[in-house]
Amino acid sequence: MNRIDRLVRPNVRALLPYSSARDEYEGKEGIFLDANESPFGPLNRYPDPRQRELRAAISKLKGVAEEMIFLGNGSDEVIDLSYRIFCNPGTDRAVIFPPTYGMYGVSAAINDVEVIKVPLDENFGIDIPALTPLLADERIKLIFICSPNNPTGNCMDPESIEFIIRNFQGIVVIDEAYADFSGKPSFIDKTGQYDNLIVMQTFSKAMGMAAARVGMAFASSEILKYLFRMKPPYNISLLNQEAAIARLNDIRPIAIQTETIVSERRRLSEKLAMIPLVEKVWPSDANFLLVKVHDADLVYNALISKNIVIRNRSREISGCLRITAGTRSENDRLLDELGKIVI
Ligand code: PMP
Repeated sequence: MNRIDRLVRPNVRALLPYSSARDEYEGKEGIFLDANESPFGPLNRYPDPRQRELRAAISKLKGVAEEMIFLGNGSDEVIDLSYRIFCNPGTDRAVIFPPTYGMYGVSAAINDVEVIKVPLDENFGIDIPALTPLLADERIKLIFICSPNNPTGNCMDPESIEFIIRNFQGIVVIDEAYADFSGKPSFIDKTGQYDNLIVMQTFSKAMGMAAARVGMAFASSEILKYLFRMKPPYNISLLNQEAAIARLNDIRPIAIQTETIVSERRRLSEKLAMIPLVEKVWPSDANFLLVKVHDADLVYNALISKNIVIRNRSREISGCLRITAGTRSENDRLLDELGKIVI
């Protein structure tokens, strides 16, 4: 048994996965009387459960072997699967670094997994001295690192990340949902080097396809085996697989859109800093800005009354709002309305 097998819950290790009709026969031509589908209609057939065409296209784009690519119904499904594969409910634990993406905690609660919170330090970096004693705790099976982090916007120090991967016996999940906006190296390339690493990316952000629910996970074949075993057979619909393939076949506009969003983020950041009610704008590696204002609830409600919706994060970070960079005209409207608020 390798060390990944040992980390997996015994019931998952012993699991005989469902074998779908489309797993047993892979050809595209023929008379299909195997899956109890209707013979009528354009969407009558079940989609490819292993999403081969889409994974091949992702493999080409990312330079990662198809055997190391898994697709989830959004990254959120990969988060949930990670808990269900590695954490025995009621016993095992996970570490998160708040303030961070809420689903790590929600998914843990759904799966009856205790979350240990190691708050980010004053620069929103990982507090390595606080984390280090926990690395030896055998009941901790997962560590979630969000980089760039939501809602703070910064990338985590790559040396800290690598220190964690090397010194932790469990699984490290790096959530790179916003990586395309950062211009910094991804950890995808390290999945060949570390068998205990899962790197998540998504079609929901820079790829502009949040509605399609397609999340990517890159990991060693030892981990991939269990992700495929645990997922519902047809977790990505045909429509969504086809939409993602079409996007990858015409990828050039995405690079341009990403550049536009990044330059709008920079412009928004500079303009926000000049508005009197704004106390601080943090640097960002993502497509949003964390902004401290004098009275977050008041500002949030004033914008809502103008049909401008931002995220009020003041419960997690005092006085803070999270603002996504939109189009130039949307950002101008926001700046205009913020300039009119009297505190
Ligand atoms: N990770 C992070 C850090 C996010 O902020 C979000 C969505 N806000 C997600 C993952 C969810 O991604 P998906 O749409 O692929 O489920």
